[in-house]
Amino acid sequence: MNTELIAAELLSLITETRERVNYVQEIGVVGIQSESLRVAETTKQTSGAPLRSNQPASVATSSSLGSSPSVDAQLLEQAEKPSFQQPKIQTLPQDGLFGDLTPSTETLSKSSESFEQIWADLADCTRCPLHQGRTNIVHTEGNRRARLMFVGEAPGADEDTQARPFVGRAGQLLTKIIESLGLKREDVMIGNVNRCRPPGNRPPTQEEAAMCKPFLLREIASVQPEVIVVLGNTAMRNLLETREGITKLRGRFQDFKGIKIMPTFHPAYLLRDPSKKRETWEDLKKVRDYLDSTAKRASVS
Ligand code: URA
Repeated sequence: MNTELIAAELLSLITETRERVNYVQEIGVVGIQSESLRVAETTKQTSGAPLRSNQPASVATSSSLGSSPSVDAQLLEQAEKPSFQQPKIQTLPQDGLFGDLTPSTETLSKSSESFEQIWADLADCTRCPLHQGRTNIVHTEGNRRARLMFVGEAPGADEDTQARPFVGRAGQLLTKIIESLGLKREDVMIGNVNRCRPPGNRPPTQEEAAMCKPFLLREIASVQPEVIVVLGNTAMRNLLETREGITKLRGRFQDFKGIKIMPTFHPAYLLRDPSKKRETWEDLKKVRDYLDSTAKRASVS
């Protein structure tokens, strides 16, 4: 590769990295600015000079950071990977990828049901007491060919009024988180275990979740996302039927009927405790890396 090409690639890498860092700062991950700019500036300086022909750019940039790469260095490395590609592919589970839950032998096989058929069955639901207080049923929304899905607990006041999931303050933070992954809200699927707002925003009970969950499972079977990010304790417990807490399981891929689940903190919790945004970002980087790796595999096969 000639020097100009390498320089051009490095510059686009810097631009992409700056954009990512801006998003990360926007969602409020602390302690990132000076480091990221230092990385970008260092890379900029080296971009004018030829690299050794057998040295990949990632080695050149991370070696300038010393032996313990920062979040920014990892971001910089990831920026080299191609971002999401849309074609859906089947993937095999990887050894050692799962955390503490025993992988289920059951799999959620692909269905050809449309969301409209599923919602027609759900109809004007009165299966659980939550229907009494709702204004609207809040269905899952987004790209029906999505590789990535986010699942929360239940609608809040804004969602109940607008009949759309995650549109209140927590939803706005979720949108920023999605954008920090290099995606748009319309690229992913967003839903909740429960579709009716619980009174006073209390967590839905297990019984209420059990009534509503089959409809979410039918949507998941229809979309077959590669990864589901499950947001917060209640959603995780109700979806995975576990009594473990989010603090223990977050950041580790779990198996759910053959689909990878990444539990992480709920955006509403991040609004209350912004210091947890950094851990959430670490969890989501694993999701992004996994999706990048499967997209890469699909493109070479
Ligand atoms: N919290 C949730 O769990 N879901 C929403 O849709 C909004 C807030």
